[in-house]
Amino acid sequence: MVDSISQDVLIIGSGLAGLRAAISSAATDRKLDIAVVSKVQVMRSHSVSAEGGTAAVLFEEEGDNQESHIYDTIKGSDFLADQDVAERLVQNIPYEIYQLDHWGMPWSRRTDGRIAQRNFGGYSFPRATYAQDKVGFYGMQTLYDTSLKFDNIRFYNEWFCTSILTDDEGSFRGVTAIEMKTGNFFKLLAPAGIMCTGGAGRLYSFSTYAYSATPDGLDMAYRAGMALKDMEFVQFHPTGILPSGILITEGARGEGGYLINSTGQRFMKKYAPEKLELASRDVVSRAMIQEIREGRGFKHESGVDCLKLDLTHLGAENIKARLGGIREIGIKFSGIDVINEPIDVRPVCHYMMGGIHTNIEGATEMKGLWAAGEAACNSVHGANRLGANSTAECLVWGRITGELAARYVASNKPSSISDLPQQVLEEEKRIYDGIFRGSGEMNPYQLRKDVTDTMDAKVHVFRHEEMLQDGLKKLVELKKMSWKHVDDKAKEYNTNFTNVMEIDSILRIAEIVLKGALVRRESRGAHARTDYPTRDDVNFLKHTLAYYGAQSPKLCWYPVSITRYAPTERKY
Ligand SMILES: Cc1cc2nc3c(=O)[nH]c(=O)nc-3n(C[C@H](O)[C@H](O)[C@H](O)COP(=O)(O)OP(=O)(O)OC[C@H]3O[C@@H](n4cnc5c(N)ncnc54)[C@H](O)[C@@H]3O)c2cc1C
Repeated sequence: MVDSISQDVLIIGSGLAGLRAAISSAATDRKLDIAVVSKVQVMRSHSVSAEGGTAAVLFEEEGDNQESHIYDTIKGSDFLADQDVAERLVQNIPYEIYQLDHWGMPWSRRTDGRIAQRNFGGYSFPRATYAQDKVGFYGMQTLYDTSLKFDNIRFYNEWFCTSILTDDEGSFRGVTAIEMKTGNFFKLLAPAGIMCTGGAGRLYSFSTYAYSATPDGLDMAYRAGMALKDMEFVQFHPTGILPSGILITEGARGEGGYLINSTGQRFMKKYAPEKLELASRDVVSRAMIQEIREGRGFKHESGVDCLKLDLTHLGAENIKARLGGIREIGIKFSGIDVINEPIDVRPVCHYMMGGIHTNIEGATEMKGLWAAGEAACNSVHGANRLGANSTAECLVWGRITGELAARYVASNKPSSISDLPQQVLEEEKRIYDGIFRGSGEMNPYQLRKDVTDTMDAKVHVFRHEEMLQDGLKKLVELKKMSWKHVDDKAKEYNTNFTNVMEIDSILRIAEIVLKGALVRRESRGAHARTDYPTRDDVNFLKHTLAYYGAQSPKLCWYPVSITRYAPTERKY
């Protein structure tokens, strides 16, 4: 008999989206019990590493305006964003900035005492609201502190969720989860849930993401019958340092940093004459790979090709005050002090535009379940996210979904939640017989590396049919390997077991990225096909949906909501 714990709203994930959703649910109805479940400690959630800022229009009297933020977001998305959703983001985010300010967020300040904003790629106005270069750390700290003021929020830290539970009508009823400390298996039951499980950047080896950023949440939704949307759109950030891939924020270019090639040229003049280094990320990353291909790159000591980011002209005081975190990163992880010399950088996997298919309110296809933050795809970013719009998304849809889930519980609370014995039994079989006790020769960590190296090699900044087919073939071979092998048979704190469950999800979700990239025979935003080099609005101005199939995903299309701007050619 599996123990169960019941609450009213179950939030899976304790990053910016999860914490904002928890506060919103708890404040909407203080009588509700809100649970936040996370496979890591709250402050180890990936959001802590967000660096450069949160986009918002704060100073209309100084020339900014919401229409411009909406347009920049839609243009940045290469016209795949749902335009009503972009509008919702822009209208709601200023409130969130001030709300965080009131809760104690130490936003950086201008000399006149007002909240400071900096330039970011693809924007027409400096609107990335920053807290030095640690917006994620300070944002998380502020939200976590605030959440502790609510007696009706309870944290389940280091609980690893494995599957979604549903009732006979297919409505959300909770999740199964392992309490990592004890190794005990539980049902966490609730009439409403919010998936805030973050992005899946660890589908790639060279990545800015935390090692915990694996697609388990996406996979849970996918296995439960919900669609994943636009998964082929993976963002490669221009400036990952070598050899680790740790991020140098776009804020460094926002503050005036240059990218230079081996001839000493600021090559972005050629690719984006107006915006230069502050063109959208897809444009800058493509330009960098092009420079490398044409022989104007540098060789890092690890043997990897790269370019250089030069901040030396910004001055020591400026760098220390506004980019102190990335200076420390450079010194510790690359042995370079950016005050004194340029640093080696290369495009790096940084963000998933795709995720669990939701509507504008964050509602998934499952009754009683919402999704927010990077795990969700409400289509606000389309084919390419603008920097600083993701933390914004987490805050806006954290609040919206938290409130909706709480209101839903008030009107839909079942008198009792059934035990769902059959589903729980099947899940136990899947994870204990299929994974924990699964025998196989191949070391799962080697398998993970092979899969993520394949993604680095085959679905990167530039793609073409042959490459993608090769990648898919390799992935299918790896999937067939006899690998499900958990060496550590301990019950308590068995991270070997949870790592292997993460790998299991990586295998399924990597296939969706590859298949989506294959069927999208055009170039749009972050998806650049050398065999189909132009955007094709006639055939592909639509979202990709992937539904679960026992052998492989089933793909179909979904319309884009175009409410304001007809697609035009993108120039920066
Ligand atoms: C280095 C870096 C810098 C960035 N800088 C910026 C920036 O300046 N501005 C900006 O807008 N965006 C930035 N981004 C993007 C932004 O940080 C993320 O998109 C955002 O923080 C994601 O937040 P989230 O709440 O959706 O998910 P996360 O913060 O990733 O949280 C996911 C949560 O889900 C939990 N979880 C996952 N799987 C399970 C499971 N199986 N069981 C239980 N719990 C689970 C995790 O424990 C975690 O708590 C940056 C990204 C990176 C990588």
